[in-house]
Amino acid sequence: MRTDVFISGGGIGGLTLALKLAKCNIDVTVIERLPGPTPVYKGELLQPKSLKIFDELGLLDRIKENGHEIDELNLVEIDKNSGSVDESNMKYNVVPSKYSYSLMIHHEKLKGIIREAASEYPSFHYRSNSSCKGYSGGKAIVEDRKEKKEELYESSFYIGAEGRVSVTREEMGIKKEENEYNHHFLTVTFPRPPSFTEGKIISTFDRFLGLFPLPNDEVRSVYLIPAGEYKELRKKPIEYFHELYIELCPEMEGYVNQIDNWKTVQLMVPIAYHTDSYTKGNKALIGDAVHTVHPMAGEGMNMAIQDADVLGELLSDMYAQGKLNAENLKWFPHVRRERVTNQMKLSHLSALAYSFPYRSVGKLRKMSLKRIEQDPILHFKQMLNISGLGMWQDSLKDRMIQGGLLPKRNTPLTQGEKEVRLFTEREDYPWKWKEQLV
Ligand SMILES: Cc1cc2nc3c(=O)[nH]c(=O)nc-3n(C[C@H](O)[C@H](O)[C@H](O)COP(=O)(O)OP(=O)(O)OC[C@H]3O[C@@H](n4cnc5c(N)ncnc54)[C@H](O)[C@@H]3O)c2cc1C
Repeated sequence: MRTDVFISGGGIGGLTLALKLAKCNIDVTVIERLPGPTPVYKGELLQPKSLKIFDELGLLDRIKENGHEIDELNLVEIDKNSGSVDESNMKYNVVPSKYSYSLMIHHEKLKGIIREAASEYPSFHYRSNSSCKGYSGGKAIVEDRKEKKEELYESSFYIGAEGRVSVTREEMGIKKEENEYNHHFLTVTFPRPPSFTEGKIISTFDRFLGLFPLPNDEVRSVYLIPAGEYKELRKKPIEYFHELYIELCPEMEGYVNQIDNWKTVQLMVPIAYHTDSYTKGNKALIGDAVHTVHPMAGEGMNMAIQDADVLGELLSDMYAQGKLNAENLKWFPHVRRERVTNQMKLSHLSALAYSFPYRSVGKLRKMSLKRIEQDPILHFKQMLNISGLGMWQDSLKDRMIQGGLLPKRNTPLTQGEKEVRLFTEREDYPWKWKEQLV
């Protein structure tokens, strides 16, 4: 078989890339191991940059119809001793953009929307229940899992979008070093009160519950547990699980109780890695195949979408200009590596803030969150970096303000000072300028 771009893995990253290419009439084939939708929980929070990308792909209206918009994240810190409750609100609208909100959508629904849009283009080919087994003589080996038959795919470019376990990464000889955490998460979706419409993270010094509303009055939840505790927890009656949630968020009483057994409650083990390389010859890696983040900042799926956008735009330009030299792929990590590193740092720091069950850490976190909320520069930086629309790293002064060592600032940033921090088209796609492709 022959196709211009071969994509191993039909997750969010692979499908977004395929849609971008198919829209430019590039012959693209996606190989997906699974036969159909899976009940396994994955990323559901779309950050502003991803919404912008899907708007440019003509999908935003459909995504909005099937999603739930979130304007702010409420971070609630409860002191069990004194009974005091502190709330900090992080608002997306501090970032000046048409896309200053996030959106929750079921993962499989989003995949379905992208796949359906791509299927309108004759140059898009999708094979489910088929697995990329590796490479032979520079060609991809694809196995039809039902027929148990193998065939070779010959392509100009091969993209590994298989998630954490990537045969393309293996073929490229690219290694990863995993960073593990001292905690795991329980995650489950259940009905919510209709009035519960914003993202909420509730913590005590030793506990954490994240609640993110989905459409149709559902809510996706994550509950932090010490690593290794899952097996013991599952031996307890499900009512014990209900109580853990209700204790932190009494609003969920009568809702979380609708989970009637442990089967739907999944274990999520956070890990993080960032490989040394994104490309080798005519192969490239996107999404979880090249970087995985702690889920705390809700970035994993967004990073896969943002990779797909940059690589898709690059390949489309290479085909449009007839410049298919694989050397041009270097522009992909040139744009993405620094942004990914920044988002990984953000996710890692957020994870650390909730990793240590000590009262002193809880107190520090409470102050730090209040400072981010009240200091206009910290607030803007936090939401800008999360949004993916721009990047502005913390300075030593920021850290000192956050830690209470310096007073917080009061002067708000002007619109101009904020706008200059947003990524420009030239920063997103730098090869477009001065005919840089070879
Ligand atoms: C439980 C959980 C919760 C998460 N929550 C969030 C969240 O709230 N927000 C967020 O942004 N991110 C979240 N993430 C992370 C997010 O889901 C991933 O970062 C994102 O799905 C990565 O997309 P991807 O396309 O790179 O990989 P994947 O989504 O993993 O897709 C890879 C696809 O490739 C297929 N595949 C694998 N090997 C082969 C092969 N050899 N041949 C053919 N096909 C193959 C797989 O079946 C899969 O469909 C979560 C992840 C998990 C596991």
